[in-house]
Amino acid sequence: MYIPAFITEAEDYRRCARFHGHTCMGLTIGYLAAKLALERLGVSRADDEELVVIVENDACCCDAIQVLTGCTFGKGNFVFRDIGKMAFTFAHRDSGKSLRLVFNNAILAVPEAERRLADLIRDGKASAEDMRTYESVSEKRIDDLFAAGPEVFFSVEEVSGPLPPKASIAPSMSCSQCGELVMQTKLVQDGERMLCLDCTAQ
Ligand SMILES: [Zn+2]
Ligand SMILES: [Zn+2]
Repeated sequence: MYIPAFITEAEDYRRCARFHGHTCMGLTIGYLAAKLALERLGVSRADDEELVVIVENDACCCDAIQVLTGCTFGKGNFVFRDIGKMAFTFAHRDSGKSLRLVFNNAILAVPEAERRLADLIRDGKASAEDMRTYESVSEKRIDDLFAAGPEVFFSVEEVSGPLPPKASIAPSMSCSQCGELVMQTKLVQDGERMLCLDCTAQ
C-alpha cells in the first residue's frame, strides 16, 4: 500500500518502522494517532508512567504507539483491551486529561472509478495506460488525505473515568509444586500449598 514519502521518510516514522519490522497502513494509523494525541495532550514521550495508553486491538498500529508515546508493554502503561476496535485512549496522569481516538474508516473508501481500475488490474485485463492512471489517481487521493493532517483520520473525544493502576511490583515466592519463582500476587492457595497458575490448572 502506498504511503506518502513525507511520512515514511520522517525520522520518527522510521524509528517506528525499525521497531515494527516493516511499513504498513496499520503502523501508519498508529503513528498518526500517537502524534495527534501527544500534541493535543501537550506532552512528549513518557520516561516513566506519567502517560497511559489503552489500545482496543493488538494490530500493527500498537507498535508505533509504543515507540512514540514511550508507553510499553514492559512498563505496564500500555494496556490491551481485547475488543477489536480501531480505538486508542491516551491518558496523562498529571493533568488528568484523557483522549479517546477512534479511527474514521470511511476516509479509506475508494471512489468508484479507482475501484474499477483496481478490478481490471486484479483480473489481468488492465492496459499499461490503465495501470498508469490507477497509480496516479490512487496516489493523489492518498497524498491529499495525508496532507489534510492526522485530525481527519480520527474522531477525538475527551473521556473520564478511572485509569488502570500503576504497575505493581510484588516479591516472588516459589510454587510449592514446580518450584519456579512466581510473583506472590499470582500464587493461588491450595490447602497448605501455594501454587502457580500452571500447577493449579493440572
Ligand atoms: Zn504492519
Ligand atoms: Zn508451579
